[in-house]
Amino acid sequence: MNQSKIQYFLNENVSILKGVGLTTKKLLKKKKIEKIRDLIWNIPDGFTDRTNVQELNKLEIGKITTIKVIPIKYNFPRIRNLPNKVICEDNKGKIDIVFFNSREGYIRKVLSLNKEVIISGKINYFNKKYQITNPAYIVPVNREKYVNKIIPKYSLTEGLSENVYRKLINQVLEGISEVKEWHSKEILKKIGNISWSKCVYKIHNDKKNDINSDFYRRLAYDEILANLLVLSASRKRIKKIKKIKKVFDQFISKKIINNFKFTLTKDQIHVLNEINKDIKSENKMFRLLQGDVGSGKTIVSFLAAGNVIRSKFQVALMAPTEILAKQHYDLALKIFKYSNIKIDFLSGKFDLRKKNEIKENLINGKIDLIIGTHALFQKSIFFKNLGLVIIDEQHKFGVRQRIELSDKGGKNCDILLMSATPIPRTLVLAFYGDMDVSRIIEKPSNRKDILTLSKPEEKRDEILEFVKKQIHNKNQIFWVCPLIEESKTFDYSAAKDKFIYLSKIFKNKVGLIHGGLNKDEKDQVLNDFLNNSISILVSTTVIEVGIDFPNANTIVIENSNKFGLSQLHQLRGRVGRGNTKSTCILLYKKNLSINARKRIKVLKKSNDGFFIAEEDMKLRGFGDVLGYQQSGLKNFKLADPIHHSDLFDIAEENIRKIELDNMHFTKYNFILKLFDKADIINQINLNMINRD
Ligand code: ADP
Ligand code: MG
Repeated sequence: MNQSKIQYFLNENVSILKGVGLTTKKLLKKKKIEKIRDLIWNIPDGFTDRTNVQELNKLEIGKITTIKVIPIKYNFPRIRNLPNKVICEDNKGKIDIVFFNSREGYIRKVLSLNKEVIISGKINYFNKKYQITNPAYIVPVNREKYVNKIIPKYSLTEGLSENVYRKLINQVLEGISEVKEWHSKEILKKIGNISWSKCVYKIHNDKKNDINSDFYRRLAYDEILANLLVLSASRKRIKKIKKIKKVFDQFISKKIINNFKFTLTKDQIHVLNEINKDIKSENKMFRLLQGDVGSGKTIVSFLAAGNVIRSKFQVALMAPTEILAKQHYDLALKIFKYSNIKIDFLSGKFDLRKKNEIKENLINGKIDLIIGTHALFQKSIFFKNLGLVIIDEQHKFGVRQRIELSDKGGKNCDILLMSATPIPRTLVLAFYGDMDVSRIIEKPSNRKDILTLSKPEEKRDEILEFVKKQIHNKNQIFWVCPLIEESKTFDYSAAKDKFIYLSKIFKNKVGLIHGGLNKDEKDQVLNDFLNNSISILVSTTVIEVGIDFPNANTIVIENSNKFGLSQLHQLRGRVGRGNTKSTCILLYKKNLSINARKRIKVLKKSNDGFFIAEEDMKLRGFGDVLGYQQSGLKNFKLADPIHHSDLFDIAEENIRKIELDNMHFTKYNFILKLFDKADIINQINLNMINRD
């Protein structure tokens, strides 16, 4: 079978497989399995060895065993809750096959009297008799080879049986034959030297299947490469965009800097130079500014904004929430006070008249710098000549959204994204290969280190005493309670209980914020906290990233062992922005695990988000780093940046060669399609054509 035929097959809907009716289709959809290729990525959790075939005098209790027997007698009690039974024998002994919740008709069908069958299941012993309860397999003797083997186990949704699922996966595997290799011999050698179809077969059938097996690694490499190809294509496209060079002198930035009460750090100066260079160049900027919370990104972006405005273009700054946007607006008013830059704020809450006035002023150029939420990107908003878009806290954008974003504002508009999610350097290309990246590592020197303590929950009185003292000194406290995850839903009860408890002690001084509140309710509570009308803010983890609460100097984190290191670091970053000394108290229940101890040690030792992110990955493994999952960065089906870091390196090296060769991606079509990237590549190519 040739490549395109297999490709076609893999992209068909699962409903073309035998045994997929409406119900199964729905159940599969719940597991995000819609196309045949999705079945491939739902890999087994483990394997059951059914090769232990025994005669009935050699059974071992508790062992999964496959037997060849003849049903000789039915026992169908007419009493509810009593199981149906079928007595079976071979020439060495007898066994009961027991069925709970199975209908008589079904049993008569699969176990016809006097007809030999193969049964596989766990051997039990009850009332002095051997039995198998609800056997996993009952098949005619001519199908023994489908049972007498090592069988993969899958994690499935309720209602979807393993048997049904395995029948599907077997049809898929049967539908796949050898395909023409897309990797060079040299690369293939580095990644295990096994063909794609063999790997797919093995990943579902080989007991040695784990993240480090050579067949798993080959498939993971395919995935890594497919991702890098997309990023690389997108990058190439952006690099081709030519814009009007922006021309400016130091007039505005000097004016701003002279009014700072501080000097810029070396890193701030460095990244500002990188940004300025981009802005002045004839290429459209598409740059990510990474830096820990409080590292001074916003100031840098304002300086860049000043320069762009100096060059007679407009600037738009977009923040994820109203409150954050307002805070940026207030800061901008202060910073640009001595310039004649005209600044405005667009809130989604403004009435139509006010909104229209702002829209008008954007078109006629009476506004130089506009600050707001994503409302700024509505289709009805036009600019006279937008030259720079700044997006704060962009960590929720995936590649697809970034591709759209890169076209925002037309070709003369530079784009700067800012993110406080630290990504280890080794992974920057794998996640942001479409962008240029600037990093601020060094923090402003006036930052006071935050005292980090860990305490067992029982010392609550001590903590309450400490909190009282802080409130007495007019300081504010964050009190974080993690969400409780009950299967699929998240539960706010811990935070609510804590709110009630603390409200009794600190009357009218406590607020509560959690994901169950709507935007207005959240904003209300945050505003109460911002203007100090409450002293304690109990929250799940929804404290907005990036908002400055200079009065908050204490953060108490309950069940701190439930959080990853990076997340604890992000939470800790909510305090330490004012003049008073700040404290972070990590509460834990009973005995701390070794890993939890290590996490606390790292936090006490370091305040560098990048360092902490690396340590976090080492301690927990990439897949478990909560912050990454929530930020949408964990978008791989198989690849794992920790275990496969060498594969990432190989792919990065390889992608450069592909770029140099200026080769077309058609060679990799198969994996692009397989990992659902083909349409992004098409979109990229289309955008390219439309521009020319
Ligand atoms: P980020 O956006 O990276 O979280 P901000 O730009 O909001 O950080 O800066 C956090 C705080 O630090 C602000 O109050 C800002 O005025 C201050 N700041 C920024 N740069 C410096 C610096 N070089 N020295 C001292 N304080 C600084
Ligand atoms: Mg910020």
